[in-house]
Amino acid sequence: MDVAVVGLGATGLAAVLEARRRGATVAAYDSGRLGGGATGRNAGFLLAGTADFYHRRRDRELYGLTLDEMDRMMAETPTVISRTGSVRRPRSLEEHEDCAAHYQALRDDGFPAELERDGSMIVPTDGSFHPLARASLLAAAARDNEAVLVENHLVDNFDALEADRVIVAVDGGLERVLPELTGRVRTARLQMLATARTDEVRIGRPVYSRYGYDYWQQLPDGRVVVGGCRDQFPDQSWTTASRPTQAVQAALDCLLREDVGVRNAPVTHRWAGTSSYTDDRRPVCEEIRPNVVAVGAFCGHGNVIASMAGRAAVELALDGRSPLAVALTE
Ligand SMILES: Cc1cc2nc3c(=O)[nH]c(=O)nc-3n(C[C@H](O)[C@H](O)[C@H](O)COP(=O)(O)OP(=O)(O)OC[C@H]3O[C@@H](n4cnc5c(N)ncnc54)[C@H](O)[C@@H]3O)c2cc1C
Repeated sequence: MDVAVVGLGATGLAAVLEARRRGATVAAYDSGRLGGGATGRNAGFLLAGTADFYHRRRDRELYGLTLDEMDRMMAETPTVISRTGSVRRPRSLEEHEDCAAHYQALRDDGFPAELERDGSMIVPTDGSFHPLARASLLAAAARDNEAVLVENHLVDNFDALEADRVIVAVDGGLERVLPELTGRVRTARLQMLATARTDEVRIGRPVYSRYGYDYWQQLPDGRVVVGGCRDQFPDQSWTTASRPTQAVQAALDCLLREDVGVRNAPVTHRWAGTSSYTDDRRPVCEEIRPNVVAVGAFCGHGNVIASMAGRAAVELALDGRSPLAVALTE
């Protein structure tokens, strides 16, 4: 069986490895560099669960599967992952109540969580990782395993790939590659910045706030990365463009200086990336055309799910059914 994979991010690489494991011949293509999409531009949070906070969806089985997936990722690429835990830091009174409900639901269902005096919640099983370094390791493993990975190759005609099955593993811009998803999937631009190394703060775990719209962490080398604020500028956010904008970056500057507490360290990098969303916050993983499986729309929460969804897409492509795809999407 010849399988072609479109997209060499976390999802595509997971699909490549799984398809090779299943004995398929695999060629994979990226219009840019390997990991050059959201995979290489993201904040590096590894959070269990889905884009919906646990108490909203309350899917115990799926939450457990994402915890297992983090263990799997850790076993696969131990040098680039730290299980530091994560912090949800509420901003408003309403969010404090929501965070308490989040904590209670996790505890009631037997998952680890701690509530701090200031109302923040720590999930000790979460963590952070270096997403581009992981992608490079996975790509090396795929090449060692005789998969063909082709960079700088835009795919605009699936038939030209001459494969028995095609897996379209594209998160941001999925609806552009597969126009039949227009209306169901839409792409957002997410922006970030990074500072020089600083001793001004010591942030031991990745932090998210304002219902996940704002997020930051300190990297092992002391630099601080901050992302978010996109909800404040919807006209600049619902787009497939991936250049940073002045207004969102100015808001990120305020977040860095006022909330994160980094007053002096200079900002050294500013960037943006895209991720696609669905209204019900369920990802897409389905046969969208005969022999073409679409996988993506992780709603800004793909670091763990992408790895699972890539494998689920291979199950769908090769077996015509995937319990994992059902668990992720229904
Ligand atoms: C700024 C930012 C911060 C984020 N932070 C987090 C976080 O902390 N935690 C978390 O869980 N998630 C986060 N996410 C989301 C997460 O990064 C993504 O969901 C995940 O990386 C998606 O991986 P992917 O492989 O599906 O897509 P991508 O990494 O985007 O890969 C898709 C690839 O497909 C290629 N491609 C597109 N069209 C074509 C074509 N026609 N032909 C060939 N190649 C094509 C692209 O070049 C790209 O390399 C963040 C996203 C962004 C943008």
